[in-house]
Amino acid sequence: MAIKTPICAFDAKTGILCPKCEARLKGGHISEIDVEASIKLTKLAEKVPELDKVSLIRAQVVDDVYLLTFAAGNLNILRANPSLHRSIDEAMGGKTMLIEAGSTDRKMLEDIFYPVRILTVNVVWLPDGSKLTKVIIPGRKTGRFPLDVELIKKVVKAVRNIDLLVEFEHTSYAKAL
Ligand SMILES: [Zn+2]
Repeated sequence: MAIKTPICAFDAKTGILCPKCEARLKGGHISEIDVEASIKLTKLAEKVPELDKVSLIRAQVVDDVYLLTFAAGNLNILRANPSLHRSIDEAMGGKTMLIEAGSTDRKMLEDIFYPVRILTVNVVWLPDGSKLTKVIIPGRKTGRFPLDVELIKKVVKAVRNIDLLVEFEHTSYAKAL
């Protein structure tokens, strides 16, 4: 069993597209980023067996971040290996965010924020009819908060047209020393 990707397993292994996959690339059914991620993750799968149990559906780049979409249910398999996300970042040569195909907005946000837990997701309608999606993170923000919220905002705006607002449950009054 090998990781499933948008291109044939053979192409992903050799790095050379067969005429059929080449035609799908030319026709715009798959992208250069899909091909790049397929080849890099197939190489990583030689060392990381969890990857052979999942399917990469598509890959996108937003602001130097690779957004990798796997089949529904795949992220639990990948999270069984705590160092795997870092290995994927290294294999791709940049920061990655991992989501699942067909997710609701809430599920997608939970996956992007993982391992940070989300307390609530609310949609806030503004007087002009536009909407904001407000995510509340439990606790208060500390210096160790591991996520780049501005980057997450750019990614969810680009892929789902979500205008994201991120707040913490408690405001921090700690003085910066
Ligand atoms: Zn092919």
